[in-house]
Amino acid sequence: MIPVEQALRIVLDRAKPLSTEEIDFSGATGRLLREDVVSDVDMPPFPRSAVDGYAVRAQDVRQIPARLDVVGTIPAGTFPTFRVEAGQAASIMTGAPVPEGADAVQMVEHCRVDRDRVEVLTQVDEGQNVAPLGSEVRLGDVVLKEGTRLDPAAIAVAATVGKTTLVVGRKPRVAVAATGNELVHPSQKPAPGQIRNSNGFSLLAQCAATGIEATYLGVALDTESSLDEVITKGLDADVLMLSGGVSMGRFDLVEDVLARHRVRVHVDAVALKPGKPLVFGTTDKGKLVFGLPGNPVSTMVTFELFVRPALARLEGAENPVRPLYRAKLLTELLNRGNRRAYLPGWISVDDEGQSIARPIPTRGSGDIVAFSKSNALLIVPEDRERLEAGEPVRYYALDSSLLKEDRWRNGG
Ligand code: AMP
Ligand code: MG
Repeated sequence: MIPVEQALRIVLDRAKPLSTEEIDFSGATGRLLREDVVSDVDMPPFPRSAVDGYAVRAQDVRQIPARLDVVGTIPAGTFPTFRVEAGQAASIMTGAPVPEGADAVQMVEHCRVDRDRVEVLTQVDEGQNVAPLGSEVRLGDVVLKEGTRLDPAAIAVAATVGKTTLVVGRKPRVAVAATGNELVHPSQKPAPGQIRNSNGFSLLAQCAATGIEATYLGVALDTESSLDEVITKGLDADVLMLSGGVSMGRFDLVEDVLARHRVRVHVDAVALKPGKPLVFGTTDKGKLVFGLPGNPVSTMVTFELFVRPALARLEGAENPVRPLYRAKLLTELLNRGNRRAYLPGWISVDDEGQSIARPIPTRGSGDIVAFSKSNALLIVPEDRERLEAGEPVRYYALDSSLLKEDRWRNGG
């Protein structure tokens, strides 16, 4: 049994970034940028008015009210060919170039128009409401760094600098299979001794949430031939994920069959609760194989902690491990045994801005309903049997910490 960090290091060391591809920038949200992006323009490309108003010489409006001659109008998208001289002003719109001679813009709200003259009612300082040429970005500046996960703001940056194709990491091809004689499709009513297959679908959904459309290989029976068939197909992908069949039972055959496919197993027990029997191996072609523990919560937690960072590393992420945050524990947490526990919890923020961690009652690694109520995993270190109420607790934020409302707070 090895510590979580060590297992994670082993996984990441063997997840080598895949090749790159060039795609249209407008569809690149969520992808991993594999080049630096450089600006081909100064931004703004001209001294830009930040408001609708009057372009003036600041010294002309020292004494207010100041009456100035309006010598032109500058809508956005035009470029003024005249100068603003002493005693003059130009009507200007937001985003339009400030004409030569003018060094400030007064907002229209602080002006009174009188035919071809304007009365400026309030002073403006030199430079006020004007963004100087190149003040935001200089031609040649790096505006997006290699290794950036592209978000909507990054798409806006690419648009701004005219970078209409982007070199990104290829998404790994992922195959998912469940194992277990007891499994039936969710559309079926389980017969005695059977349960519905949830892991196959939670894994597909977790992949989808990272932007990967995984291939579903269905359910393998707990026989060598059935596992063999599924693993043969799965090794076409870059990453194969299996759930179940990795514990110590007589029919937990996944490791044996992987060995026959010359998968070298680097991890087969982690000091983690839930998720101890996690299996991780590689083929000589560098493909990754995860044998995830079959209990539904274990499957999802081990995906979060190990598979998700591995997939991101394959895309080219340098540091794909989520940071842990800290919150104040609302009620005590227990952890028997010498494994690090990741327990379902709900993080909220109180009136003082303090993060509060509320443990969610759970029956353990089979209790997928309790897990589904969580937005974070609360961590009890391996050397602690309990954390007291009021103590700081570290937590792993699930995606749902940003997406989900608390619908269970008042019981249920
Ligand atoms: P295993 O790791 O195969 O021994 O499975 C551990 C527990 O998880 C058993 O109770 C299984 O019935 C359950 N389990 C295994 N695979 C799935 C699955 N795909 N969906 C739901 N539960 C499963
Ligand atoms: Mg099984």
